[in-house]
Amino acid sequence: MPELPEVNTLAVALARQLRGDSITEWHRLSPKLRLPIPGSKEARAIIGGKIVGIKRVAKNLYFDFAGELFLKAHLGMTGHFHLTPEPLKELKHAHLRLKLQSGRILTFCDPRRFGSIEITAFPDECVTEPFAGILTPQYLATVCAKKQCSIKALIMDQQIIAGLGNIYAAEALFAAGIRPDRAAASLSRTELKKLCQAIITVIDKAVKDGIASLTDQPEIDADTTHFEITTLIYGQQGGLCSKCRKGTVEMVRIGGRSSCYCPLCQK
Ligand SMILES: [Zn+2]
Repeated sequence: MPELPEVNTLAVALARQLRGDSITEWHRLSPKLRLPIPGSKEARAIIGGKIVGIKRVAKNLYFDFAGELFLKAHLGMTGHFHLTPEPLKELKHAHLRLKLQSGRILTFCDPRRFGSIEITAFPDECVTEPFAGILTPQYLATVCAKKQCSIKALIMDQQIIAGLGNIYAAEALFAAGIRPDRAAASLSRTELKKLCQAIITVIDKAVKDGIASLTDQPEIDADTTHFEITTLIYGQQGGLCSKCRKGTVEMVRIGGRSSCYCPLCQK
């Protein structure tokens, strides 16, 4: 499942390629996603409008036509875009095909269908994203107070921090030296400060790595969101801890997700 840095990489790639172009034809191939895909009538307000940019809020992409309505896309687990000079004949799980003014074709595919496409206004409520100046130790202290759920489940709650998923949550907890299954309310002020900084550092690095991975290649496909990430703890169960070189990485299950940690480095 793409996390915030992967979605951000796609937003940057799409913006580079699509700025100045516009949608001329809207073909809904199969409406069955998590939400039904709008038909061409509902999309009328954005068809023909010049794309001025692609905004990202949490893990949502908003195609900006400099008007009130945006094309909102959520990738879910397996959603991806293909931008090609011509329609691809053998494209499986294609749900929406857009013809652009430039002649290129933008297709949205989603084999597992947890993604969504909407025509909607830009959200006005503020979400807390894992970036400096937005996520603060004070905020974490407030949301952790009296919470008996695990700290990992809490920081992955999209209503609390928008865009933090399993991989980067595990990495941030490792960097901060905090066990993922600790009760959220048990964290000290010092630990909350460390965790806040670790989340910001981990996401900031991944966002930069994602953008740096983009090539000049004009085509966009499922691989555009995939870039090399070096994980220190995620997926390392049974291995030697990369930090202390003494502990064996263990795994607990939290909220149905596997969570690796080093019993020596994380308390
Ligand atoms: Zn260790």
